Amino acid sequence: MRNHPSNLLACTVLILTASLSAQQPAAPKHQDTEVYEPVPPIVTPGVTDAAPPSDAIVLFDGKNLDQWVSTKDKSPAKWTVADDILTVSKAPGTGNIETKKTFKNYQLHIEWRIPENITGTDQARGNSGVFLASTGPGDDGYELQILDSYNNKTYVNGQAGSIYKQGIPLANPNRKPGEWQTYNVIWNAPTFNSDGTLKTPAYVTVVFNGVLVQNHFELKGQTLYVGQPFYKPYDTAPIKLQAHGDKSEPISFRNIWVRELK
Ligand code: MG
Repeated sequence: MRNHPSNLLACTVLILTASLSAQQPAAPKHQDTEVYEPVPPIVTPGVTDAAPPSDAIVLFDGKNLDQWVSTKDKSPAKWTVADDILTVSKAPGTGNIETKKTFKNYQLHIEWRIPENITGTDQARGNSGVFLASTGPGDDGYELQILDSYNNKTYVNGQAGSIYKQGIPLANPNRKPGEWQTYNVIWNAPTFNSDGTLKTPAYVTVVFNGVLVQNHFELKGQTLYVGQPFYKPYDTAPIKLQAHGDKSEPISFRNIWVRELK
Protein backbone atom coordinates (compact mmCIF):
# COMPACT_ATOMS: atom_id res chain seq x y z
CA MET A 1 0.00 0.00 0.00
CA ARG A 2 1.32 3.43 -0.93
CA ASN A 3 1.84 6.01 1.79
CA HIS A 4 -0.91 8.59 1.74
CA PRO A 5 0.32 12.18 2.42
CA SER A 6 -1.95 12.43 5.51
CA ASN A 7 -0.37 9.20 6.92
CA LEU A 8 3.09 10.69 6.41
CA LEU A 9 2.01 13.86 8.22
CA ALA A 10 0.60 11.84 11.13
CA CYS A 11 3.83 9.82 11.36
CA THR A 12 5.94 12.99 11.37
CA VAL A 13 3.79 14.51 14.13
CA LEU A 14 4.08 11.29 16.17
CA ILE A 15 7.87 11.15 15.80
CA LEU A 16 8.20 14.85 16.68
CA THR A 17 5.96 14.44 19.73
CA ALA A 18 7.88 11.35 20.88
CA SER A 19 11.26 13.03 20.50
CA LEU A 20 10.04 16.16 22.30
CA SER A 21 8.68 14.14 25.23
CA ALA A 22 11.91 12.10 25.30
CA GLN A 23 13.85 15.34 25.68
CA GLN A 24 11.60 16.66 28.45
CA PRO A 25 10.74 13.92 30.96
CA ALA A 26 8.10 15.01 33.42
CA ALA A 27 9.62 16.13 36.72
CA PRO A 28 8.75 13.68 39.52
CA LYS A 29 6.03 14.89 41.88
CA HIS A 30 5.33 13.83 45.46
CA GLN A 31 1.84 12.69 44.36
CA ASP A 32 3.42 10.06 42.06
CA THR A 33 4.26 7.83 45.04
CA GLU A 34 1.08 8.34 47.14
CA VAL A 35 -1.57 5.61 47.00
CA TYR A 36 -5.04 5.55 48.56
CA GLU A 37 -6.05 1.88 48.40
CA PRO A 38 -6.35 -0.67 49.92
CA VAL A 39 -7.43 1.09 53.13
CA PRO A 40 -6.12 -0.91 56.17
CA PRO A 41 -8.94 -2.36 58.32
CA ILE A 42 -9.53 -0.67 61.69
CA VAL A 43 -8.65 -2.87 64.73
CA THR A 44 -9.21 -1.91 68.39
CA PRO A 45 -5.96 -2.58 70.30
CA GLY A 46 -5.46 -4.15 73.74
CA VAL A 47 -2.94 -3.15 76.43
CA THR A 48 0.62 -2.86 75.10
CA ASP A 49 3.04 -1.11 77.47
CA ALA A 50 6.34 -2.86 78.18
CA ALA A 51 9.14 -2.12 80.64
CA PRO A 52 12.63 -2.68 79.20
CA PRO A 53 13.99 -6.23 79.54
CA SER A 54 17.27 -6.77 81.42
CA ASP A 55 19.54 -6.67 78.36
CA ALA A 56 18.00 -3.60 76.71
CA ILE A 57 19.86 -0.36 76.04
CA VAL A 58 17.55 2.29 77.48
CA LEU A 59 17.43 5.25 75.10
CA PHE A 60 14.92 7.32 77.09
CA ASP A 61 13.64 6.55 80.58
CA GLY A 62 11.96 9.89 81.29
CA LYS A 63 14.95 11.58 82.90
CA ASN A 64 17.22 13.11 80.26
CA LEU A 65 18.41 13.10 76.64
CA ASP A 66 21.93 11.85 77.41
CA GLN A 67 21.60 9.20 74.65
CA TRP A 68 20.56 11.72 71.97
CA VAL A 69 22.04 14.50 69.82
CA SER A 70 20.72 16.99 67.31
CA THR A 71 20.93 15.43 63.82
CA LYS A 72 22.16 18.56 62.06
CA ASP A 73 25.27 19.30 64.16
CA LYS A 74 25.54 16.48 66.75
CA SER A 75 25.13 19.01 69.58
CA PRO A 76 23.15 17.91 72.68
CA ALA A 77 19.52 17.20 71.77
CA LYS A 78 17.25 20.13 72.66
CA TRP A 79 13.77 18.62 72.74
CA THR A 80 11.74 19.09 75.93
CA VAL A 81 11.92 16.62 78.83
CA ALA A 82 9.22 17.13 81.48
CA ASP A 83 7.04 14.85 83.61
CA ASP A 84 8.97 11.76 82.36
CA ILE A 85 8.00 12.58 78.77
CA LEU A 86 10.00 13.72 75.72
CA THR A 87 8.30 16.26 73.45
CA VAL A 88 9.35 17.54 70.02
CA SER A 89 10.65 21.10 70.26
CA LYS A 90 8.87 23.75 68.21
CA ALA A 91 11.77 26.16 68.58
CA PRO A 92 12.89 27.23 65.09
CA GLY A 93 15.87 25.31 63.78
CA THR A 94 15.86 22.61 66.46
CA GLY A 95 15.07 19.82 64.02
CA ASN A 96 15.44 16.06 64.24
CA ILE A 97 17.26 14.22 67.03
CA GLU A 98 19.10 10.91 66.82
CA THR A 99 20.86 8.42 69.07
CA LYS A 100 24.55 8.88 69.85
CA LYS A 101 25.01 5.14 69.48
CA THR A 102 24.68 3.52 66.06
CA PHE A 103 22.96 0.21 65.33
CA LYS A 104 22.73 -2.50 62.71
CA ASN A 105 20.06 -5.13 63.48
CA TYR A 106 17.86 -4.55 66.50
CA GLN A 107 14.57 -4.80 68.36
CA LEU A 108 13.09 -1.41 69.30
CA HIS A 109 10.30 -0.39 71.68
CA ILE A 110 8.97 3.18 71.55
CA GLU A 111 5.79 4.80 72.84
CA TRP A 112 4.33 7.96 71.34
CA ARG A 113 1.35 10.23 71.89
CA ILE A 114 -0.50 12.60 69.59
CA PRO A 115 -1.70 15.68 71.57
CA GLU A 116 -5.34 15.49 72.55
CA ASN A 117 -5.92 18.94 71.05
CA ILE A 118 -4.22 18.09 67.75
CA THR A 119 -5.24 20.22 64.77
CA GLY A 120 -4.49 20.01 61.06
CA THR A 121 -5.34 17.42 58.44
CA ASP A 122 -3.73 14.81 56.23
CA GLN A 123 0.08 14.71 56.67
CA ALA A 124 0.03 17.88 58.83
CA ARG A 125 -1.67 16.24 61.82
CA GLY A 126 0.75 14.89 64.41
CA ASN A 127 3.42 14.02 61.87
CA SER A 128 6.66 12.63 63.21
CA GLY A 129 8.49 9.41 62.49
CA VAL A 130 11.05 6.89 63.62
CA PHE A 131 13.93 6.68 61.17
CA LEU A 132 15.06 3.12 61.73
CA ALA A 133 18.44 4.01 60.28
CA SER A 134 19.40 7.65 59.89
CA THR A 135 21.79 7.76 56.98
CA GLY A 136 22.29 11.48 56.68
CA PRO A 137 20.99 14.94 57.51
CA GLY A 138 17.37 16.02 57.31
CA ASP A 139 14.99 13.17 56.55
CA ASP A 140 17.51 10.78 54.99
CA GLY A 141 17.01 7.16 56.05
CA TYR A 142 14.22 4.65 56.53
CA GLU A 143 11.06 6.07 58.13
CA LEU A 144 8.39 4.27 60.08
CA GLN A 145 5.67 6.91 59.95
CA ILE A 146 4.07 8.50 63.01
CA LEU A 147 0.86 10.44 62.36
CA ASP A 148 -2.63 10.80 63.80
CA SER A 149 -4.39 8.12 61.74
CA TYR A 150 -7.28 7.58 64.15
CA ASN A 151 -9.68 9.46 61.91
CA ASN A 152 -7.54 11.34 59.46
CA LYS A 153 -7.49 10.53 55.77
CA THR A 154 -4.19 10.55 53.93
CA TYR A 155 -2.46 8.32 51.42
CA VAL A 156 -2.40 4.86 52.99
CA ASN A 157 1.33 4.37 52.38
CA GLY A 158 1.84 7.48 54.55
CA GLN A 159 -0.44 6.75 57.52
CA ALA A 160 0.74 5.66 60.98
CA GLY A 161 2.37 2.23 60.83
CA SER A 162 3.43 2.64 57.21
CA ILE A 163 6.97 2.38 55.94
CA TYR A 164 6.74 5.79 54.36
CA LYS A 165 5.62 5.57 50.72
CA GLN A 166 6.57 1.87 50.54
CA GLY A 167 4.65 -0.31 52.99
CA ILE A 168 0.91 0.08 53.62
CA PRO A 169 0.14 -1.15 57.18
CA LEU A 170 -1.78 -4.42 57.36
CA ALA A 171 -4.24 -2.89 59.84
CA ASN A 172 -5.15 0.39 61.52
CA PRO A 173 -4.96 -0.06 65.34
CA ASN A 174 -4.60 3.68 66.08
CA ARG A 175 -5.75 5.02 69.41
CA LYS A 176 -7.39 8.41 69.85
CA PRO A 177 -5.23 11.53 70.12
CA GLY A 178 -4.17 11.96 73.75
CA GLU A 179 -3.65 8.20 74.33
CA TRP A 180 -0.24 6.50 74.37
CA GLN A 181 0.59 4.19 71.45
CA THR A 182 3.36 1.62 71.04
CA TYR A 183 5.64 0.47 68.26
CA ASN A 184 7.65 -2.72 68.65
CA VAL A 185 10.01 -3.03 65.71
CA ILE A 186 12.46 -5.64 64.42
CA TRP A 187 14.91 -4.05 62.00
CA ASN A 188 17.15 -6.15 59.79
CA ALA A 189 19.54 -3.71 58.16
CA PRO A 190 20.43 -3.91 54.46
CA THR A 191 23.87 -5.26 53.63
CA PHE A 192 26.16 -4.12 50.85
CA ASN A 193 28.95 -5.56 48.75
CA SER A 194 32.43 -4.01 48.91
CA ASP A 195 31.66 -2.01 45.74
CA GLY A 196 28.61 -0.44 47.42
CA THR A 197 25.98 -2.43 45.55
CA LEU A 198 23.13 -3.98 47.49
CA LYS A 199 23.76 -7.49 48.84
CA THR A 200 20.54 -8.02 50.83
CA PRO A 201 17.68 -5.53 51.30
CA ALA A 202 16.37 -4.24 54.63
CA TYR A 203 13.47 -6.08 56.24
CA VAL A 204 11.22 -4.71 58.96
CA THR A 205 8.55 -6.16 61.20
CA VAL A 206 6.33 -3.72 63.13
CA VAL A 207 3.79 -4.47 65.86
CA PHE A 208 1.64 -1.37 66.46
CA ASN A 209 -0.41 -1.33 69.67
CA GLY A 210 -0.04 -5.13 69.78
CA VAL A 211 -1.20 -5.61 66.18
CA LEU A 212 1.11 -6.75 63.36
CA VAL A 213 1.22 -4.02 60.71
CA GLN A 214 4.47 -4.83 58.85
CA ASN A 215 5.35 -8.52 58.43
CA HIS A 216 9.02 -8.93 57.48
CA PHE A 217 8.47 -6.21 54.89
CA GLU A 218 11.22 -5.86 52.28
CA LEU A 219 12.24 -2.25 51.70
CA LYS A 220 13.07 -0.91 48.24
CA GLY A 221 15.53 1.61 49.68
CA GLN A 222 15.38 4.83 51.64
CA THR A 223 11.94 6.37 52.19
CA LEU A 224 11.70 9.46 50.03
CA TYR A 225 9.08 12.24 49.85
CA VAL A 226 9.62 12.68 46.11
CA GLY A 227 10.84 10.02 43.69
CA GLN A 228 11.56 6.32 43.81
CA PRO A 229 13.46 4.69 46.70
CA PHE A 230 17.06 3.57 46.33
CA TYR A 231 19.74 2.22 48.64
CA LYS A 232 22.80 4.11 49.84
CA PRO A 233 25.41 1.90 51.53
CA TYR A 234 25.90 2.18 55.28
CA ASP A 235 27.11 -0.13 58.02
CA THR A 236 25.60 1.06 61.29
CA ALA A 237 23.42 4.14 61.80
CA PRO A 238 21.65 6.10 64.55
CA ILE A 239 17.92 5.85 65.20
CA LYS A 240 16.33 9.24 64.47
CA LEU A 241 13.10 10.94 65.58
CA GLN A 242 11.47 13.43 63.23
CA ALA A 243 10.54 17.03 63.97
CA HIS A 244 8.13 17.57 61.09
CA GLY A 245 7.64 21.27 61.80
CA ASP A 246 3.83 21.31 61.77
CA LYS A 247 1.96 24.28 63.27
CA SER A 248 -0.12 22.03 65.56
CA GLU A 249 0.95 20.96 69.07
CA PRO A 250 4.00 18.68 68.93
CA ILE A 251 3.92 14.98 69.72
CA SER A 252 5.56 13.23 72.69
CA PHE A 253 7.53 10.04 73.39
CA ARG A 254 8.31 7.85 76.39
CA ASN A 255 9.85 4.48 77.29
CA ILE A 256 12.32 4.02 74.41
CA TRP A 257 14.63 1.02 74.48
CA VAL A 258 16.52 -1.15 72.05
CA ARG A 259 18.07 -4.64 72.02
CA GLU A 260 20.88 -5.22 69.57
CA LEU A 261 20.60 -8.41 67.52
CA LYS A 262 23.98 -9.98 66.84
MG1 MG B 1 6.86 11.60 59.29
